[in-house]
Amino acid sequence: MRPLIASIRLNHLRENFLTLKQMHGGGKMLAVVKADAYGHGAVPCAKALADLTDGYAVACIEEAIELRQAGLTLPIVLLEGVFAAEEYALVDQYRLWPVVGNAWQLASLLDFAWQKPLTVWLKMDSGMHRTGFFPHDYAAAFKALSQCPQVESIVKITHFACADEPVNGMTADQLHTFDLACAALGGDISVANSAAMMAYPQTQRGWGRAGLALYGISPMAKTDNRFKPVMRLSSQVFGERVLPAGEAIGYGASFVTTQSTRVGLVACGYADGYPRRASTGTPIAVAGERTRVLGRVSMDMMTIELHDHQHGVGSEVELWGDVVNVNEIAAAAGTIAYELLCHVKRARKIYRE
Ligand SMILES: *Cc1c(COP(=O)(O)O)cnc(C)c1O
Repeated sequence: MRPLIASIRLNHLRENFLTLKQMHGGGKMLAVVKADAYGHGAVPCAKALADLTDGYAVACIEEAIELRQAGLTLPIVLLEGVFAAEEYALVDQYRLWPVVGNAWQLASLLDFAWQKPLTVWLKMDSGMHRTGFFPHDYAAAFKALSQCPQVESIVKITHFACADEPVNGMTADQLHTFDLACAALGGDISVANSAAMMAYPQTQRGWGRAGLALYGISPMAKTDNRFKPVMRLSSQVFGERVLPAGEAIGYGASFVTTQSTRVGLVACGYADGYPRRASTGTPIAVAGERTRVLGRVSMDMMTIELHDHQHGVGSEVELWGDVVNVNEIAAAAGTIAYELLCHVKRARKIYRE
């Protein structure tokens, strides 16, 4: 059996949740489990948090129904709302909380014959300009919803564009815009994602929406030891050879040895979600000790440097997790940890309490 394993440490997930909850001043919290819980497995992660969280957030109806069918009963927010008016029937049936972020989502919600009382998350575009009502249209949308007899409560939500940059004035500007436009409107609010909870104390109110940090990874592109990585992606060395100086390794012959080099072959490649752009020099750990990738990452395997004292064939290799932070791999590949975690494929997931 191929030795590629994604160990998912559910105890770390729970600890991270409690850390975030405390950072958020103990306020209400959604565990964001969209995109299969950032590649960690939505149902097991959601179940592991069921006694701690106040609800979940997902990207679409399909993800929400998966949680309901697994027996999860807490509130589920659809972060992008519905993609077609017909989906409101499923929102009603499964008691989901839709975000409403534009005129057609609002109009079709108001048209729908709701069977059950409904909670709506009304989105404001406070500056990110993807979705949400403009501040000057927001109160009218709020009023229309509040006049709908089946709408039981409205949560005012907005999203920050730059909360992962601790010294960027945009977050304060967005918050100010949001506060001004909903000053006269009642109900709960939700503004903070992981980065905002960590870096902008003034956003620590209402419902927190915890994503990346819940999985133990800092959105600030460096490690943050307040959080414990939930995923540990590991494999094994299954081949080794010693090459003299002057020999090229792998596709494109992009790396050439400058001295006698012990090369290990690892069962993991870009078809598993390891980024091809992370080539020579990217950190990787053999039996807990850091070394580096050599040459280009192939589809199913990759080559690494083995130090003289390191054991070769059969050694455990950590692609990312505890010794190598996934943010380091993301930096080497010119991307962000979010993308790498979501892209893990073909790895056997093993859940640990
Ligand atoms: C994904 C998402 C989040 C979670 O963001 P993190 O940076 O992962 O904490 C919060 N809010 C919205 C609207 C999202 O789409």
